[in-house]
Amino acid sequence: MVEQSQYQINLDKNVNEKRSLMHLFTEILCKECKKQYKSDEPSASSVVVKNIQKCCSKKPDYIHSGLPLKQATYRALLSKGNRPTTARQISDFLTERWGESVYTRSMTPAVISRLLETSVDYEISVK
Ligand SMILES: [Zn+2]
Repeated sequence: MVEQSQYQINLDKNVNEKRSLMHLFTEILCKECKKQYKSDEPSASSVVVKNIQKCCSKKPDYIHSGLPLKQATYRALLSKGNRPTTARQISDFLTERWGESVYTRSMTPAVISRLLETSVDYEISVK
């Protein structure tokens, strides 16, 4: 059943040759962390994901109102430390973070599943 599928970003695979995983993750980092990661030597993507989970995902503009749903879906996964997550859990997370302000968005688990299954930015593993 679709509802039972669990999604996860495959950190070992880079689907977009022009934009590395680190590049994509760097865009997600908060201002403070961006500075930190720019100056440092390359970090493993799992380290950056931990960082996003612990710090950046807690910032209020992590899920801001202008964010495309697809990006928000990735951010939801990262805020959970990229643990296998169902579309329902992502939907609940986004509904909570976006709240009433973005009521016109369709954030049903079915929509989220479809977005993840057609992902071009990241390789998404489905369990
Ligand atoms: Zn941060």
